[in-house]
Amino acid sequence: MTKHAALWNPLANDSHPAGWISSDAITLSNLIRQGIQPSPLMVCSGGTSSRCAADGLWTLDLRARHRQMVISEAGDEVEIGAGLSMAEVLEGLQTRGRSIPVGLSTVPGCGFVLTGGISPLSRSQGLAMDHIVGLRGVWGNGDCFELSAPVSPHEEQQQWRGLLGAAPFLAIVTAIRLRTQELTPLVIWRSIGSAQQLSIAMEVAEQWNHSASLQWTWNERIELFIVCFANDAAAIKAVESLKTRLGHCPESSMTMVPGQHAQPPFGSLARSTDLQGRIHTEIVSKLGPAWGQRWPALMAELEQLMRRRPHPGCQISAQQLGGKSSQVPVSRTSFLHRDAIWKPWCTAAWSAGDTKGRDRALEWLWQTNNLVSDYCPGAHLAQIHPHLSCHKAELHDAFQDWLPGLNQLKTHHDPHGLLPPL
Ligand SMILES: Cc1cc2nc3c(=O)[nH]c(=O)nc-3n(C[C@H](O)[C@H](O)[C@H](O)COP(=O)(O)OP(=O)(O)OC[C@H]3O[C@@H](n4cnc5c(N)ncnc54)[C@H](O)[C@@H]3O)c2cc1C
Repeated sequence: MTKHAALWNPLANDSHPAGWISSDAITLSNLIRQGIQPSPLMVCSGGTSSRCAADGLWTLDLRARHRQMVISEAGDEVEIGAGLSMAEVLEGLQTRGRSIPVGLSTVPGCGFVLTGGISPLSRSQGLAMDHIVGLRGVWGNGDCFELSAPVSPHEEQQQWRGLLGAAPFLAIVTAIRLRTQELTPLVIWRSIGSAQQLSIAMEVAEQWNHSASLQWTWNERIELFIVCFANDAAAIKAVESLKTRLGHCPESSMTMVPGQHAQPPFGSLARSTDLQGRIHTEIVSKLGPAWGQRWPALMAELEQLMRRRPHPGCQISAQQLGGKSSQVPVSRTSFLHRDAIWKPWCTAAWSAGDTKGRDRALEWLWQTNNLVSDYCPGAHLAQIHPHLSCHKAELHDAFQDWLPGLNQLKTHHDPHGLLPPL
Protein backbone atom coordinates (compact mmCIF):
# COMPACT_ATOMS: atom_id res chain seq x y z
CA MET A 1 0.00 0.00 0.00
CA THR A 2 1.00 3.65 -0.18
CA LYS A 3 1.66 5.95 2.76
CA HIS A 4 -1.52 6.39 4.86
CA ALA A 5 -0.77 10.07 5.61
CA ALA A 6 2.27 12.32 5.95
CA LEU A 7 4.51 11.58 8.94
CA TRP A 8 4.87 14.30 11.55
CA ASN A 9 8.63 13.76 11.72
CA PRO A 10 10.20 15.43 8.64
CA LEU A 11 13.28 13.15 8.57
CA ALA A 12 11.10 10.02 8.55
CA ASN A 13 8.65 11.63 6.13
CA ASP A 14 11.44 12.44 3.64
CA SER A 15 12.80 8.86 3.70
CA HIS A 16 12.18 6.35 0.90
CA PRO A 17 10.92 3.13 2.51
CA ALA A 18 10.73 -0.17 0.63
CA GLY A 19 6.97 -0.01 1.21
CA TRP A 20 4.15 0.41 3.71
CA ILE A 21 2.26 -2.32 5.53
CA SER A 22 -1.10 -1.70 7.11
CA SER A 23 -2.75 -4.86 8.40
CA ASP A 24 -4.63 -6.33 11.33
CA ALA A 25 -2.78 -8.48 13.88
CA ILE A 26 -3.63 -11.83 12.21
CA THR A 27 -2.49 -10.74 8.74
CA LEU A 28 0.61 -9.20 10.28
CA SER A 29 1.40 -12.47 12.05
CA ASN A 30 1.10 -14.33 8.71
CA LEU A 31 3.26 -11.77 6.92
CA ILE A 32 5.96 -12.11 9.58
CA ARG A 33 5.92 -15.92 9.25
CA GLN A 34 6.32 -15.61 5.48
CA GLY A 35 9.30 -13.30 6.12
CA ILE A 36 9.59 -9.54 5.74
CA GLN A 37 12.80 -8.51 4.00
CA PRO A 38 14.85 -6.44 4.29
CA SER A 39 14.68 -6.05 8.08
CA PRO A 40 14.44 -4.45 10.57
CA LEU A 41 10.78 -3.59 10.19
CA MET A 42 10.04 0.02 11.12
CA VAL A 43 6.91 0.65 13.20
CA CYS A 44 4.90 3.84 12.98
CA SER A 45 2.37 4.70 15.65
CA GLY A 46 2.26 8.50 15.94
CA GLY A 47 5.02 8.97 13.36
CA THR A 48 6.82 11.60 15.46
CA SER A 49 10.25 9.99 15.83
CA SER A 50 13.03 9.93 13.23
CA ARG A 51 13.02 6.12 13.15
CA CYS A 52 9.43 5.20 12.24
CA ALA A 53 10.40 5.03 8.55
CA ALA A 54 13.78 4.72 6.84
CA ASP A 55 15.32 4.37 3.39
CA GLY A 56 14.93 0.89 1.91
CA LEU A 57 13.03 -0.63 4.88
CA TRP A 58 9.38 -1.59 5.31
CA THR A 59 7.20 0.46 7.66
CA LEU A 60 4.22 -1.00 9.48
CA ASP A 61 1.86 1.97 9.72
CA LEU A 62 -0.54 1.41 12.62
CA ARG A 63 -2.40 4.66 12.02
CA ALA A 64 -4.78 3.29 9.38
CA ARG A 65 -6.21 0.15 11.02
CA HIS A 66 -5.66 0.36 14.75
CA ARG A 67 -7.92 3.20 15.75
CA GLN A 68 -10.45 1.74 18.20
CA MET A 69 -11.19 3.36 21.53
CA VAL A 70 -13.39 1.59 24.07
CA ILE A 71 -14.04 3.22 27.43
CA SER A 72 -15.27 0.96 30.26
CA GLU A 73 -18.73 1.60 31.65
CA ALA A 74 -17.31 3.15 34.82
CA GLY A 75 -14.83 5.18 32.76
CA ASP A 76 -11.90 3.90 34.82
CA GLU A 77 -10.30 1.98 31.91
CA VAL A 78 -9.84 2.56 28.21
CA GLU A 79 -8.61 0.33 25.39
CA ILE A 80 -6.93 2.20 22.57
CA GLY A 81 -5.72 1.06 19.18
CA ALA A 82 -2.00 1.76 18.75
CA GLY A 83 -2.70 4.04 15.78
CA LEU A 84 -4.35 6.79 17.83
CA SER A 85 -2.53 9.97 18.81
CA MET A 86 -2.58 11.19 22.40
CA ALA A 87 -4.76 14.12 21.22
CA GLU A 88 -7.37 11.64 19.96
CA VAL A 89 -7.22 9.63 23.19
CA LEU A 90 -7.66 12.74 25.37
CA GLU A 91 -10.47 14.01 23.16
CA GLY A 92 -12.38 10.73 23.58
CA LEU A 93 -11.76 10.54 27.34
CA GLN A 94 -12.67 14.13 28.18
CA THR A 95 -16.28 13.54 27.10
CA ARG A 96 -16.45 11.16 30.11
CA GLY A 97 -14.55 13.47 32.46
CA ARG A 98 -11.48 11.20 32.31
CA SER A 99 -7.88 11.54 31.15
CA ILE A 100 -4.43 9.92 31.10
CA PRO A 101 -1.16 11.78 31.77
CA VAL A 102 0.33 12.72 28.39
CA GLY A 103 3.48 14.63 27.49
CA LEU A 104 4.24 18.24 26.67
CA SER A 105 2.52 17.78 23.32
CA THR A 106 -0.49 15.66 22.40
CA VAL A 107 0.90 14.97 18.91
CA PRO A 108 2.76 11.69 19.76
CA GLY A 109 1.11 8.32 19.38
CA CYS A 110 1.34 5.12 21.41
CA GLY A 111 5.14 5.08 21.17
CA PHE A 112 4.86 7.72 23.92
CA VAL A 113 3.06 5.32 26.27
CA LEU A 114 5.20 2.27 25.42
CA THR A 115 8.55 4.03 25.92
CA GLY A 116 7.62 5.40 29.36
CA GLY A 117 5.59 8.51 28.78
CA ILE A 118 6.89 11.29 31.01
CA SER A 119 4.17 13.85 31.66
CA PRO A 120 4.13 17.19 33.47
CA LEU A 121 1.67 15.28 35.70
CA SER A 122 4.01 12.32 36.33
CA ARG A 123 5.01 13.62 39.75
CA SER A 124 1.45 13.13 40.99
CA GLN A 125 0.08 10.49 38.59
CA GLY A 126 3.14 8.49 37.50
CA LEU A 127 4.30 7.73 33.96
CA ALA A 128 1.79 7.05 31.19
CA MET A 129 3.28 3.53 31.11
CA ASP A 130 2.35 3.02 34.78
CA HIS A 131 -1.31 3.18 33.68
CA ILE A 132 -1.04 0.16 31.34
CA VAL A 133 -3.15 -2.81 32.47
CA GLY A 134 -3.27 -4.82 29.26
CA LEU A 135 -1.45 -5.24 25.95
CA ARG A 136 -2.24 -6.99 22.68
CA GLY A 137 0.02 -7.46 19.72
CA VAL A 138 2.39 -9.66 17.75
CA TRP A 139 5.90 -10.71 18.81
CA GLY A 140 8.76 -10.33 16.37
CA ASN A 141 8.48 -14.10 15.67
CA GLY A 142 4.87 -13.73 14.51
CA ASP A 143 3.16 -15.15 17.64
CA CYS A 144 0.12 -13.14 18.75
CA PHE A 145 -0.16 -12.22 22.44
CA GLU A 146 -2.65 -10.78 24.87
CA LEU A 147 -1.29 -9.96 28.34
CA SER A 148 -2.80 -8.43 31.45
CA ALA A 149 -1.17 -7.03 34.58
CA PRO A 150 -0.47 -8.41 37.09
CA VAL A 151 0.61 -11.74 35.65
CA SER A 152 1.71 -14.62 37.84
CA PRO A 153 3.86 -17.12 35.89
CA HIS A 154 7.53 -16.13 35.81
CA GLU A 155 7.84 -16.00 32.04
CA GLU A 156 4.85 -13.73 31.62
CA GLN A 157 6.23 -11.35 34.24
CA GLN A 158 9.41 -11.11 32.19
CA GLN A 159 7.39 -10.54 29.02
CA TRP A 160 5.35 -7.83 30.72
CA ARG A 161 8.49 -6.14 32.00
CA GLY A 162 10.06 -6.30 28.55
CA LEU A 163 7.07 -4.80 26.77
CA LEU A 164 6.80 -1.90 29.21
CA GLY A 165 9.70 0.22 28.02
CA ALA A 166 11.40 -2.04 25.47
CA ALA A 167 8.50 -3.03 23.18
CA PRO A 168 10.12 -1.48 20.06
CA PHE A 169 12.84 -4.19 20.21
CA LEU A 170 10.55 -7.16 20.88
CA ALA A 171 7.04 -6.82 19.50
CA ILE A 172 4.44 -4.80 17.71
CA VAL A 173 1.80 -3.67 20.18
CA THR A 174 -1.53 -3.21 18.44
CA ALA A 175 -3.76 -2.28 21.41
CA ILE A 176 -3.20 -0.93 24.93
CA ARG A 177 -5.58 -1.04 27.90
CA LEU A 178 -4.98 1.81 30.37
CA ARG A 179 -6.27 2.95 33.73
CA THR A 180 -7.69 6.45 33.46
CA GLN A 181 -7.55 9.45 35.80
CA GLU A 182 -10.20 12.00 36.67
CA LEU A 183 -9.96 15.00 34.35
CA THR A 184 -8.73 17.87 36.54
CA PRO A 185 -8.15 21.52 35.54
CA LEU A 186 -4.54 22.67 35.43
CA VAL A 187 -2.74 25.92 36.13
CA ILE A 188 0.16 26.60 33.76
CA TRP A 189 2.73 29.34 34.26
CA ARG A 190 4.99 30.19 31.32
CA SER A 191 7.80 32.69 31.35
CA ILE A 192 11.18 33.64 29.94
CA GLY A 193 14.22 33.59 32.21
CA SER A 194 17.99 33.93 32.25
CA ALA A 195 20.30 30.98 32.93
CA GLN A 196 20.63 32.24 36.52
CA GLN A 197 16.85 32.37 36.93
CA LEU A 198 16.59 28.86 35.51
CA SER A 199 19.18 27.78 38.05
CA ILE A 200 17.05 29.21 40.88
CA ALA A 201 13.88 27.64 39.48
CA MET A 202 15.52 24.20 39.29
CA GLU A 203 16.82 24.35 42.84
CA VAL A 204 13.38 25.39 44.09
CA ALA A 205 11.57 22.75 41.99
CA GLU A 206 13.77 19.98 43.38
CA GLN A 207 12.25 20.71 46.81
CA TRP A 208 8.61 20.50 45.66
CA ASN A 209 6.43 17.83 47.26
CA HIS A 210 3.12 18.69 45.55
CA SER A 211 1.75 18.46 42.00
CA ALA A 212 3.86 21.25 40.42
CA SER A 213 6.48 20.30 37.83
CA LEU A 214 9.05 22.44 36.02
CA GLN A 215 9.85 22.08 32.34
CA TRP A 216 12.23 24.28 30.38
CA THR A 217 13.65 24.66 26.91
CA TRP A 218 16.75 26.61 25.95
CA ASN A 219 16.92 27.89 22.40
CA GLU A 220 17.35 31.57 21.52
CA ARG A 221 15.89 32.22 24.99
CA ILE A 222 15.03 30.05 27.97
CA GLU A 223 11.36 29.21 28.44
CA LEU A 224 10.11 28.08 31.85
CA PHE A 225 6.89 26.04 31.84
CA ILE A 226 5.33 25.04 35.15
CA VAL A 227 2.24 22.86 35.45
CA CYS A 228 0.18 22.02 38.54
CA PHE A 229 -3.36 20.99 39.42
CA ALA A 230 -5.73 23.93 39.83
CA ASN A 231 -7.11 22.36 43.02
CA ASP A 232 -3.66 22.03 44.63
CA ALA A 233 -3.38 25.11 46.86
CA ALA A 234 0.15 24.26 48.05
CA ALA A 235 1.40 23.95 44.46
CA ILE A 236 -0.18 27.24 43.38
CA LYS A 237 1.33 28.99 46.39
CA ALA A 238 4.76 27.59 45.50
CA VAL A 239 4.43 28.71 41.87
CA GLU A 240 3.34 32.22 42.99
CA SER A 241 6.30 32.39 45.35
CA LEU A 242 8.76 31.36 42.61
CA LYS A 243 7.18 33.88 40.24
CA THR A 244 7.73 36.66 42.80
CA ARG A 245 11.29 35.52 43.44
CA LEU A 246 12.19 35.57 39.73
CA GLY A 247 10.73 39.07 39.26
CA HIS A 248 8.65 40.68 36.52
CA CYS A 249 8.84 39.39 32.95
CA PRO A 250 6.59 40.79 30.17
CA GLU A 251 6.18 37.32 28.57
CA SER A 252 5.03 35.75 31.82
CA SER A 253 1.48 34.36 31.82
CA MET A 254 -0.53 32.19 34.17
CA THR A 255 -3.48 30.35 32.66
CA MET A 256 -6.02 27.80 33.79
CA VAL A 257 -6.97 25.05 31.31
CA PRO A 258 -9.54 22.25 31.67
CA GLY A 259 -6.89 19.54 31.13
CA GLN A 260 -3.88 18.52 29.08
CA HIS A 261 -5.97 18.47 25.89
CA ALA A 262 -5.94 22.29 26.17
CA GLN A 263 -2.37 22.89 27.39
CA PRO A 264 -0.48 25.70 25.60
CA PRO A 265 2.39 24.77 23.23
CA PHE A 266 5.62 24.06 25.10
CA GLY A 267 8.72 25.76 23.69
CA SER A 268 7.11 28.44 21.54
CA LEU A 269 8.36 31.28 23.81
CA ALA A 270 11.97 30.15 23.46
CA ARG A 271 12.23 31.26 19.85
CA SER A 272 11.24 34.64 18.40
CA THR A 273 10.75 33.40 14.81
CA ASP A 274 9.75 30.11 13.24
CA LEU A 275 12.50 28.14 11.51
CA GLN A 276 12.50 28.38 7.72
CA GLY A 277 12.54 25.39 5.34
CA ARG A 278 12.51 21.67 6.09
CA ILE A 279 14.42 20.84 9.25
CA HIS A 280 15.63 17.35 10.18
CA THR A 281 16.34 16.48 13.80
CA GLU A 282 17.70 13.77 16.06
CA ILE A 283 16.92 13.80 19.78
CA VAL A 284 18.79 12.10 22.61
CA SER A 285 17.15 11.93 26.07
CA LYS A 286 18.81 11.36 29.44
CA LEU A 287 17.52 10.65 32.96
CA GLY A 288 19.09 11.62 36.25
CA PRO A 289 18.69 12.62 39.90
CA ALA A 290 18.52 16.06 41.53
CA TRP A 291 21.28 18.45 40.39
CA GLY A 292 21.15 20.69 43.47
CA GLN A 293 24.25 22.83 43.89
CA ARG A 294 25.86 21.35 40.75
CA TRP A 295 23.57 23.26 38.40
CA PRO A 296 25.60 26.56 38.22
CA ALA A 297 28.69 24.66 36.98
CA LEU A 298 26.68 22.81 34.34
CA MET A 299 24.95 26.05 33.35
CA ALA A 300 28.26 27.74 32.54
CA GLU A 301 29.23 24.87 30.23
CA LEU A 302 25.80 24.73 28.62
CA GLU A 303 25.98 28.46 27.91
CA GLN A 304 29.22 27.84 25.97
CA LEU A 305 27.62 25.03 23.99
CA MET A 306 24.52 27.07 23.25
CA ARG A 307 26.71 29.88 21.91
CA ARG A 308 28.36 27.39 19.52
CA ARG A 309 25.22 25.61 18.32
CA PRO A 310 25.52 25.00 14.59
CA HIS A 311 21.84 25.52 13.70
CA PRO A 312 19.06 27.63 15.25
CA GLY A 313 17.00 24.46 15.76
CA CYS A 314 19.60 22.94 18.10
CA GLN A 315 18.37 23.17 21.67
CA ILE A 316 18.42 21.68 25.15
CA SER A 317 15.28 21.04 27.18
CA ALA A 318 14.28 19.23 30.35
CA GLN A 319 11.20 17.98 32.14
CA GLN A 320 10.72 17.08 35.78
CA LEU A 321 9.53 13.73 37.09
CA GLY A 322 9.88 11.96 40.45
CA GLY A 323 7.18 11.70 43.14
CA LYS A 324 4.67 9.07 41.98
CA SER A 325 6.89 7.95 39.08
CA SER A 326 9.57 6.93 41.61
CA GLN A 327 7.22 4.67 43.58
CA VAL A 328 7.01 1.83 41.05
CA PRO A 329 9.53 -0.99 41.74
CA VAL A 330 12.47 -1.00 39.32
CA SER A 331 11.90 -4.70 38.61
CA ARG A 332 8.38 -4.18 37.26
CA THR A 333 9.15 -2.41 33.97
CA SER A 334 12.04 -1.70 31.58
CA PHE A 335 11.97 1.95 32.68
CA LEU A 336 14.73 1.42 35.24
CA HIS A 337 15.59 4.96 36.29
CA ARG A 338 12.86 5.33 38.86
CA ASP A 339 15.03 7.66 40.96
CA ALA A 340 15.19 10.21 38.12
CA ILE A 341 14.03 13.75 38.84
CA TRP A 342 15.07 15.27 35.51
CA LYS A 343 14.85 14.19 31.92
CA PRO A 344 17.00 16.54 29.84
CA TRP A 345 16.98 16.06 26.07
CA CYS A 346 19.22 17.54 23.39
CA THR A 347 17.99 18.25 19.88
CA ALA A 348 20.36 18.31 16.89
CA ALA A 349 18.85 20.11 13.89
CA TRP A 350 19.98 20.77 10.33
CA SER A 351 18.43 21.76 7.00
CA ALA A 352 17.17 18.75 5.03
CA GLY A 353 19.81 17.59 2.54
CA ASP A 354 22.70 19.48 4.17
CA THR A 355 25.06 16.57 4.96
CA LYS A 356 27.80 18.81 6.37
CA GLY A 357 25.20 20.56 8.51
CA ARG A 358 24.03 17.15 9.74
CA ASP A 359 27.61 16.21 10.72
CA ARG A 360 28.07 19.50 12.58
CA ALA A 361 24.73 19.16 14.37
CA LEU A 362 25.46 15.57 15.41
CA GLU A 363 28.93 16.55 16.64
CA TRP A 364 27.30 19.27 18.76
CA LEU A 365 24.76 16.71 19.99
CA TRP A 366 27.51 14.29 21.15
CA GLN A 367 29.36 17.09 22.97
CA THR A 368 26.19 18.28 24.68
CA ASN A 369 25.11 14.76 25.48
CA ASN A 370 28.53 13.93 27.00
CA LEU A 371 28.29 16.92 29.27
CA VAL A 372 24.70 16.24 30.33
CA SER A 373 25.53 12.55 30.90
CA ASP A 374 27.82 13.50 33.79
CA TYR A 375 24.73 14.79 35.59
CA CYS A 376 22.10 12.46 34.13
CA PRO A 377 23.71 9.07 33.37
CA GLY A 378 20.50 7.20 32.52
CA ALA A 379 19.01 7.11 29.02
CA HIS A 380 15.35 7.45 28.12
CA LEU A 381 14.78 5.56 24.87
CA ALA A 382 11.82 7.66 23.79
CA GLN A 383 13.56 7.79 20.41
CA ILE A 384 15.63 4.82 19.27
CA HIS A 385 18.84 5.28 17.28
CA PRO A 386 19.99 1.97 15.74
CA HIS A 387 21.26 4.06 12.79
CA LEU A 388 23.57 6.22 14.96
CA SER A 389 26.85 5.51 16.76
CA CYS A 390 25.25 6.05 20.19
CA HIS A 391 22.88 3.05 19.95
CA LYS A 392 24.85 0.50 22.00
CA ALA A 393 25.76 3.01 24.72
CA GLU A 394 22.15 4.18 24.92
CA LEU A 395 20.89 0.61 25.34
CA HIS A 396 23.36 0.11 28.16
CA ASP A 397 22.46 3.41 29.85
CA ALA A 398 18.74 2.69 29.54
CA PHE A 399 18.60 -0.99 30.54
CA GLN A 400 21.80 -1.62 32.53
CA ASP A 401 21.75 -5.04 34.25
CA TRP A 402 18.34 -5.83 32.74
CA LEU A 403 19.86 -5.81 29.21
CA PRO A 404 20.81 -9.55 29.33
CA GLY A 405 17.20 -10.34 30.37
CA LEU A 406 15.92 -8.34 27.41
CA ASN A 407 18.33 -10.14 25.10
CA GLN A 408 16.95 -13.46 26.35
CA LEU A 409 13.43 -12.28 25.57
CA LYS A 410 14.63 -11.16 22.14
CA THR A 411 16.21 -14.56 21.45
CA HIS A 412 12.89 -16.19 22.20
CA HIS A 413 10.39 -13.69 20.76
CA ASP A 414 12.32 -12.06 17.91
CA PRO A 415 15.01 -14.62 17.01
CA HIS A 416 15.45 -13.42 13.41
CA GLY A 417 15.80 -9.74 14.32
CA LEU A 418 12.63 -8.50 12.61
CA LEU A 419 12.69 -5.51 14.96
CA PRO A 420 15.60 -3.14 15.77
CA PRO A 421 18.64 -4.75 17.48
CA LEU A 422 19.25 -4.81 21.22
C1 LIG B 1 6.28 17.31 20.09
C2 LIG B 1 6.75 16.17 20.95
C3 LIG B 1 6.64 16.25 22.33
C4 LIG B 1 7.07 15.19 23.14
N1 LIG B 1 6.93 15.29 24.50
C5 LIG B 1 7.28 14.23 25.28
C6 LIG B 1 7.07 14.26 26.69
O1 LIG B 1 6.60 15.25 27.25
N2 LIG B 1 7.43 13.17 27.41
C7 LIG B 1 7.97 12.05 26.82
O2 LIG B 1 8.25 11.06 27.53
N3 LIG B 1 8.20 12.00 25.49
C8 LIG B 1 7.87 13.06 24.72
N4 LIG B 1 8.08 13.00 23.37
C9 LIG B 1 8.79 11.84 22.81
C10 LIG B 1 7.80 10.79 22.30
O3 LIG B 1 6.97 10.36 23.33
C11 LIG B 1 8.59 9.58 21.79
O4 LIG B 1 9.44 9.95 20.75
C12 LIG B 1 7.67 8.46 21.32
O5 LIG B 1 8.42 7.31 21.05
C13 LIG B 1 6.89 8.87 20.09
O6 LIG B 1 5.93 7.93 19.81
P1 LIG B 1 5.12 8.00 18.44
O7 LIG B 1 4.18 6.87 18.43
O8 LIG B 1 4.56 9.36 18.25
O9 LIG B 1 6.28 7.88 17.37
P2 LIG B 1 6.73 6.77 16.32
O10 LIG B 1 7.84 7.43 15.59
O11 LIG B 1 5.59 6.27 15.52
O12 LIG B 1 7.29 5.61 17.22
C14 LIG B 1 8.42 5.81 18.00
C15 LIG B 1 9.20 4.50 18.17
O13 LIG B 1 8.44 3.63 18.97
C16 LIG B 1 8.27 2.37 18.34
N5 LIG B 1 6.85 2.05 18.36
C17 LIG B 1 5.84 2.93 18.15
N6 LIG B 1 4.67 2.31 18.28
C18 LIG B 1 4.94 1.03 18.56
C19 LIG B 1 4.11 -0.10 18.78
N7 LIG B 1 2.80 0.01 18.77
N8 LIG B 1 4.71 -1.29 19.03
C20 LIG B 1 6.07 -1.39 19.08
N9 LIG B 1 6.89 -0.34 18.88
C21 LIG B 1 6.33 0.85 18.62
C22 LIG B 1 8.78 2.48 16.92
O14 LIG B 1 9.73 1.47 16.70
C23 LIG B 1 9.45 3.81 16.83
O15 LIG B 1 10.83 3.64 16.69
C24 LIG B 1 7.66 14.04 22.54
C25 LIG B 1 7.78 13.98 21.16
C26 LIG B 1 7.34 15.02 20.36
C27 LIG B 1 7.49 14.90 18.88
